[in-house]
Amino acid sequence: MVRDYDNWIDGCWIETPRRLDRFSPADGRLLSRFADSDCEVLDLGVKAARAAFDHRDRWPYLPGSQRAQHLTRLADLIVAHSEKLSEIESEEAGKPIRFARAEVAWAAELIRYAAALAWQIPGDAVSNIGEAALGLVTREPRGVVGIIVPWNFPLVTLFQKLAFALAAGCTTVIKPSELTSGTALEVAILAKQAGFPDGVINVVTGTGVNVGDAMTSHPGIDMISFTGSTAVGKHVARRCADSIKRVGLELGGKAANIVFPDADLDAAVDGVLLGYILNQGQECVQGTRLLVHADIAKQFVEQLVDRSKRIRLGLPMDESADMGPLIHDSHMNGVLNHIRRASTEGARLAIGGYQVADPPFDRGCFVTPTVFDHVTTDMALFRDEVFGPVLAVTTFSADDEAVTLANYTGYGLGNGVWTKDIDRAVFCSRRLKSGTVYVNTYLETSVQMPFGGFKESGMGRENGMDGLLEFTETKSTFIKLGNRLPALPHTVAA
Ligand code: NAD
Repeated sequence: MVRDYDNWIDGCWIETPRRLDRFSPADGRLLSRFADSDCEVLDLGVKAARAAFDHRDRWPYLPGSQRAQHLTRLADLIVAHSEKLSEIESEEAGKPIRFARAEVAWAAELIRYAAALAWQIPGDAVSNIGEAALGLVTREPRGVVGIIVPWNFPLVTLFQKLAFALAAGCTTVIKPSELTSGTALEVAILAKQAGFPDGVINVVTGTGVNVGDAMTSHPGIDMISFTGSTAVGKHVARRCADSIKRVGLELGGKAANIVFPDADLDAAVDGVLLGYILNQGQECVQGTRLLVHADIAKQFVEQLVDRSKRIRLGLPMDESADMGPLIHDSHMNGVLNHIRRASTEGARLAIGGYQVADPPFDRGCFVTPTVFDHVTTDMALFRDEVFGPVLAVTTFSADDEAVTLANYTGYGLGNGVWTKDIDRAVFCSRRLKSGTVYVNTYLETSVQMPFGGFKESGMGRENGMDGLLEFTETKSTFIKLGNRLPALPHTVAA
């Protein structure tokens, strides 16, 4: 059955005649139809969010404990509807169902954590600014937040923003990816059931050009919180600069796993494998480069290739699948172009490198796990974000060299270090220019740990207390105690 959605604005469906069709990346079936909105529809969403924010007795003025209650109820409802949400996520994003279930569970955890933060938004009293004065430093919600998210983890990228924005007291207009808008709309309905006031959560679907651009210039939006590619992120930042709109950016990556000879090599193979194939390699913090010490490189790559051969491709609802299809045809063709270019530039193909042509995968965008070794820093594969299951292997001989190679990219989202030597682990971790470093593990995640990028991987942090504070402005209030002496005494009548 094809799912057909309008926009969700001010607590109800707003009919929008034009539609965007989402076809299955696994078999080409029509899955969902989303409203193809324009700036007029967006304006309705912004007006609803503005009213919900500006009206004194509404969302930002509720005690944090009450916002927390709403959030907790939403988390409960998401868990109760987990199977439906997982199926939509799995079909639209093409990810195997067990990973979609994990994503739904993770979204609920993000919401519960943000609910706890709503109780304890920090502030300060400053008592050393004079005997007859008191300073208050408060954190106030930024206002209406425009949330723009991508297709690779539609629910997690959404809730890393939405849950914290709501906890802080902001109201929201969400633009999900035009490829995977289903779960954001389903969640908006659940939020109404959870008791959120109308207008606090609005979802306006459509393209980046029609809706996204209109959001970044809309005077009713106080902040844009964006997750997506670095190219679009730069464009968003430039447009926000025109009105000094606050902006948070979670962008692309080109992470490296550095493997030293003293590491637990079985664990390292496992981590590197997960790091490059999870979500079909469509992961911002994907471990897309392997930097392996020359002494162990041959043996390590052989083991990795052997394990890569056992990765199971599957249709989205296949419970045993490790990997599904890439998100759509043109993205797959981009990944295949990267593969062709790497061969032309002299990298050695160790495994994979092709689109699967056999049934039942012949109607979808399935690309096999692909490993290139002999990759050098001048090759595009070393620098560019591929966003597919493609690993670039480069060798090193000294610790400094490994760190220099890992940092030899414009991105700075994550890196991994595999070693049993604590000195070496800390040496590398301190020098790696990335927002996250994993030591003897990869793709760990925790709601308490801030996530975000150095360099062209972004600005700002999500998760942890930092994730909440992103959605607040700091206000200083000076309070005079007792009688105030005039500052300009000669102006006072005698
Ligand atoms: P994208 O940049 O093409 O699109 C992201 C979102 O921006 C979509 O909703 C899209 O419709 C919208 N958009 C497009 N043009 C726009 C415009 N002119 N103005 C405003 N919005 C516009 O990215 P994508 O292909 O959907 O996602 C993949 C990218 O996202 C990768 O680069 C990946 O690394 C990155 N990503 C980063 C993180 C992170 O946390 N750092 C997480 C997930 C994905």
